[in-house]
Amino acid sequence: MNTTKVITRFAPSPTGYLHAGNYRTALFSYMYARQKGGKFILRIEDTDKERSKKEYEDNIIDSLKWLGLTYDDFCRQSDRTLLYGTYIQKLLDSGNAYISKEIPKEPGDRSEVIRFKNPNKKVKFTDLIRGDIEFDTTDLGDFVIARSMTEPVFHLVVVIDDALSEITHIIRGEDHISNTPRHILIYEALGLMAPHYAHIPLLLSPDRTKMSKRKGALPITEYRKMGYLPEAVINYLAFLGWNPGGERELYNVEELIKLFDLNQVQKSAAIFNIEKLNWFNKEYIKLLPQETLFKYVSETLAPHNYNSEILRKITPLIVERISRFGELEDMVKNNELQYFFNCPVIKKELLAWKTENDFQKIKERLITVSDILKTVPESDYTKDKIKEALWPFAEKEGRGAVLWPLRVSLSGQEKSPDPFTLIEIFGKEETIIRLENTIKLL
Ligand code: GLU
Repeated sequence: MNTTKVITRFAPSPTGYLHAGNYRTALFSYMYARQKGGKFILRIEDTDKERSKKEYEDNIIDSLKWLGLTYDDFCRQSDRTLLYGTYIQKLLDSGNAYISKEIPKEPGDRSEVIRFKNPNKKVKFTDLIRGDIEFDTTDLGDFVIARSMTEPVFHLVVVIDDALSEITHIIRGEDHISNTPRHILIYEALGLMAPHYAHIPLLLSPDRTKMSKRKGALPITEYRKMGYLPEAVINYLAFLGWNPGGERELYNVEELIKLFDLNQVQKSAAIFNIEKLNWFNKEYIKLLPQETLFKYVSETLAPHNYNSEILRKITPLIVERISRFGELEDMVKNNELQYFFNCPVIKKELLAWKTENDFQKIKERLITVSDILKTVPESDYTKDKIKEALWPFAEKEGRGAVLWPLRVSLSGQEKSPDPFTLIEIFGKEETIIRLENTIKLL
């Protein structure tokens, strides 16, 4: 019986901001390890000294934290240079590697590197997603494994680290499939067992080209800034190339972990679709309790210093219209929120309902509405009670003729929630003030 504990890892290179495709790889590794009760490791692969930057590493750590992808161990390749040196020496000693004299082609090229002595044989492995794969390694030649004793390259360190961490399943992007034969040769040369491989298909941009930071694929932390919820992003990412079957689409991470099936990951590329992500996000927004919604809304709108009592009241109204919290800023720009907090400036012409453009009449109706509203006690300023109080007059005069100018008096907008909803939000005093402002104007 094989009782080996499953250990997976996410091994990004901090040479730029990682995009959604990278985090999907992290998520699949994470889900697999958690499902099996195993371990998930974060390894920063920063052997490329020129291109690796601390800020990218920090961003990776921050992103994983935001997504909730906790790891049980962390390592950084630049901390382990000496260790790699001992393995380079081992390979040199056993004759599996040699110091190769080179003719430098470009400035900065080495005159000496360490190459792997390729046995030029066929390498076979069973990929958990793609099935049996066979490569003839002859074409690879004697590939470079280090530029010097202290400068190992990716192909070598990936093998040493995976072996030392006892990684059982390497789940990574399909772009690494062609590297795998090299890695297997190195495992064999070191007398180590290669782990299982699962190469997951690429995530493509909507134009079906490879997603890349150079082509504007956003770092995942940008989605946080735009007001996406991590639980929605996780659900969305999990469904890129896999799903548990059936109609249902909303699954929390615990459920995803339970159902995830590495063998069922599709072989064809997935395509990043922002509309689908927006759909997920809206669904998750709908699930949030009022208090949490209010917290998100007030954090997003904090720079505007809006009255928080009013903000709390309008939270359910405004979140109905967004699929991510960043859209609240668009509402501010489109002047769709201001009137909740300050008396609007009323454009007289806007008070006319269709052909009802006799402003004297409009004024008289608003006076009657105001008189009716004054008789309603403050405690009855609810949507339903206000509707009940105004309905007979609205029926008598024509609903539009009464309710349109009333709504415009309260909001100043061509479009806004209905007047009863607005009156409930504003309460008695503010409602009467707004009506009287309009009446004065006429
Ligand atoms: N560091 C590699 C990358 O960022 C990943 C290597 C691997 O997962 O084996 O593409």
